[in-house]
Amino acid sequence: MPRSTVCLSFDFDALSVWLAYDRPTPAMLARGEFGARVGVPRILDLLRSHGLDATFFVPGHTVESFPAETTSILEAGHEVGHHSYAHVDPSEQAADDERADMERAWAALEGIGVTPLGFRSPSADLSAVTLELVEERGFLYDSSLMADDYRPFRPRIGDRVARGVPLERGREARFWELPISFELDDWVHFQFNFSPYRRGGSTPGDVLEIWQAEFDWMDANVDGGVLTFTLHPQVIGRGSRIAMLDALIHHCGEAGATFRRLGDVARELDPLRDG
Ligand SMILES: [Zn+2]
Repeated sequence: MPRSTVCLSFDFDALSVWLAYDRPTPAMLARGEFGARVGVPRILDLLRSHGLDATFFVPGHTVESFPAETTSILEAGHEVGHHSYAHVDPSEQAADDERADMERAWAALEGIGVTPLGFRSPSADLSAVTLELVEERGFLYDSSLMADDYRPFRPRIGDRVARGVPLERGREARFWELPISFELDDWVHFQFNFSPYRRGGSTPGDVLEIWQAEFDWMDANVDGGVLTFTLHPQVIGRGSRIAMLDALIHHCGEAGATFRRLGDVARELDPLRDG
């Protein structure tokens, strides 16, 4: 049976995720800055200690606000993917604004020598045109959807569905989807917030139990499965959670998993397209 793959992906949102709220305050922004000051260096140290490659989705706003930290990610050999410019939920944007934001982020990445292979939607949501924009821009993969768990798939563009009307399937996209899930997202488990209220505060042990069980089931039942974790430097960067991530890496590594960048997985699925 082909070995299991684990993809560690880090959404380096920094300030951008808080600026997307209605009323960002200095205290909220400080929480984002933690990701740059503490989270990224701590994550890079951990990855280096294991000799692992990972993927960082970096909004254009972060690229331009924290250039040294972004450069340190590239210099360590990790992939940098597209995560919008301003981290605004695409489902709340007009199509023209969404396109302009995508182009601005693309330019910011090109400015540091990156041609992104992959896109991850901010806020884990999509507008009616997001997938068309992703295809039009020539991305090799998207990593924002949850229609599968351990298997990459080609998402559909142009589905038609409404209450009382059955699904009419659209066509398959030219890019791959490397699926995510809220169960494998550190923000959902750990990140407390006053407004909008998020409970957060899970113990690292409880989350490790879920994440290891997800890996174990996939490893036992799915040929060549791919498990993608969505992590945020401002969340996973706390000491207790870095220790938990270290334990997860040990667990999956001892079972024989390979750790790969999402872009490498997508390239292997689609060898005819150059990236
Ligand atoms: Zn994000």
